[in-house]
Amino acid sequence: MPKSKVFVLIDCNNFFVSCERLFRPDLEGKPVVVLSSNDGCVVARSNEAKAAGVPMGAPAFKHRETFKKHNIVTFSANFELYGDISKRTISLLTTITPRIEIYSVDESFLDISALPITDYAEWGRGVRASVLQHIGVPVSIGIAPSKTLAKLAAEIAKQNDTYQGAFSFIDLPEEQKADALRRMSIEHIWGVGRKLAPVLRSEGVSTALGLMNLRPQRAQQLMGIHGRQMVTELQGTACYQLTREHAPAKQILRSRTFGEDTSHAYALEAAIANMATRAAYQLRSERLLAGRIGLFTNTDRHKPGYRRWTREIQMPMPTNDTGQIISLLVKKLGEFYSDKQKYHQLGVFFYDLTPESALQTDILGDVTPDMHDRAQSRMKAVDDINQRYGRGKIYFAAQELNTIWQPRRKTASPRYVSKWGEIPEARIA
Ligand SMILES: [Mg+2]
Repeated sequence: MPKSKVFVLIDCNNFFVSCERLFRPDLEGKPVVVLSSNDGCVVARSNEAKAAGVPMGAPAFKHRETFKKHNIVTFSANFELYGDISKRTISLLTTITPRIEIYSVDESFLDISALPITDYAEWGRGVRASVLQHIGVPVSIGIAPSKTLAKLAAEIAKQNDTYQGAFSFIDLPEEQKADALRRMSIEHIWGVGRKLAPVLRSEGVSTALGLMNLRPQRAQQLMGIHGRQMVTELQGTACYQLTREHAPAKQILRSRTFGEDTSHAYALEAAIANMATRAAYQLRSERLLAGRIGLFTNTDRHKPGYRRWTREIQMPMPTNDTGQIISLLVKKLGEFYSDKQKYHQLGVFFYDLTPESALQTDILGDVTPDMHDRAQSRMKAVDDINQRYGRGKIYFAAQELNTIWQPRRKTASPRYVSKWGEIPEARIA
């Protein structure tokens, strides 16, 4: 008989809030919320803010009173910081096993079937302590023979302090498993969601235990093949394996909603230059070249006369050269730009990505390796300088043409990890 699978889900608690608290330990135990780009909606809440009744996704302007009344500290989202903490967490987790699936910015699955572990809950608490020590972010850990159960286990660990952050379904006696599943409503099950929950409830199924005991044929009638798989997964047999283990990006997209709508060509060029700089840096750091590059921009969809423009360029030679990309995209912008339009958002995207190493083996007529090599060494110099002296130390002039494109971030925390000038200071008295 094949050995059964063991999956672990590692889920960062209130991730954006935890990142903010990393550099503001004074906010431990205080209510904190993080607002989306342009300070529109609540995208993360500390437990204290949840208790004060701030709903997820709540429009900030509707809750200013609540924020005031409960002394809730608000932050504008600082995605640069969250992305960096996420990367650090993932690189720590890959030291446990390379069999990792990065599920979202704050959740990863590991396949630990091959690891010699005797007490899984105890092992999970060890991982939790290690993430807390090295990264500083609290996590919830769920361990189980299927990904669906691992997700539920992490939720159980999060909700119940007695488990100290880690819950395991492995080797759990049947009655205890049934007890745990009976306490979880179906909304908590991975893949059930808002659409399927009412379907199940009308069938009389309201808990994870109820779904586990539903006849597989019936589950399939109600929810398709996915429903049958959910039942099997809840019973403890894995249907889903890890996906995209360390798969490189298929496409890269960077977009921003402007701080205010603009008709200014310079503002659009600056936005292109900044998005392209970031996206091209990602290309180079993953050793990729883009075969197609493009940009889109649109007016405000909530205002009359909404319009959207998309332009693409097929590169004669795949590239990751920021300068070349900026000049081509700015030229494309010239094809449709009009000073009569109020532009609201702009994005830059790359696809048809190929590894740098493929270029050498696949030289076509119009690919001139010479040109490629020169671009490569130029960009390497830029990256080296920015690595050494701080990101953005040298940049393309177009990036600074105008700053209207920058989103409003009235109360963003400093860029602790990516700007030398904003690095936190510690004083010993
Ligand atoms: Mg989370």
